[in-house]
Amino acid sequence: MKIIFDAGHGYFTPGKRIPDGSMREWEFNSKVCEYAKELLMGYAGVIVKFTHDITGKFDVPLKDRTDIANKWGADVLVSVHANAAGNGWHSGEGVETYVDSSKPKDAYDLAVKVQNQLLRETGRRNRGVKTADFHMLRESNMTAILPECGFMTNKEEAALLKADSYRRKCAQAIVNGLVEHYQLRKIVVNLEVPSDYAYELALALEWAKENNISNGERLNEPCTRAQQLIMLYRFFNLMNSSNK
Ligand SMILES: [Zn+2]
Repeated sequence: MKIIFDAGHGYFTPGKRIPDGSMREWEFNSKVCEYAKELLMGYAGVIVKFTHDITGKFDVPLKDRTDIANKWGADVLVSVHANAAGNGWHSGEGVETYVDSSKPKDAYDLAVKVQNQLLRETGRRNRGVKTADFHMLRESNMTAILPECGFMTNKEEAALLKADSYRRKCAQAIVNGLVEHYQLRKIVVNLEVPSDYAYELALALEWAKENNISNGERLNEPCTRAQQLIMLYRFFNLMNSSNK
């Protein structure tokens, strides 16, 4: 299945930062997306893509973000954010997850699971699953949720949002929710390879099958020059098409 992550905003987006200037919202959002992608690589049949520019230099316009998700045909979109209230420090705190105002059933069910996982992993206050008329939720054609993982304007939560451990907890929670909702299963391999390579081979195998490079069969048998050439040619075409 195709999962697309959207790190809200860009590094230079005005506002969108901790009041004392110690962190931009982008820094939190993009790291959570990166960690979630890493975690999902261990699951069978899952391909992950981002709608944002990973350097953060460009705040990809919202329309482009949903266009990318729609054109790719993502099955689910997760737009990761950190919250804010007022101008400057504020007492508002906690975690909430949004779905579109039309309250699509699948998105709502997924949001409930992700929200519960966020509460479990972070131990923050529950603000619940909410609806809103946000572009990312409204204009995306697939199941879409938008978790707000804590308030940049709350001193205690600002410190958490800056911590790598908290970012990893949020990524884990989102992935746990996705795994639960879509019944994703971990890649299991049973091949005669040194254990150091087993995991990497499992990932490579999934990737090769997903991208039609190889059918992944008879892995311990030799490969002819013709077969090597075909695989190289398919890889070349794959690289070319992904650069467009
Ligand atoms: Zn945001």
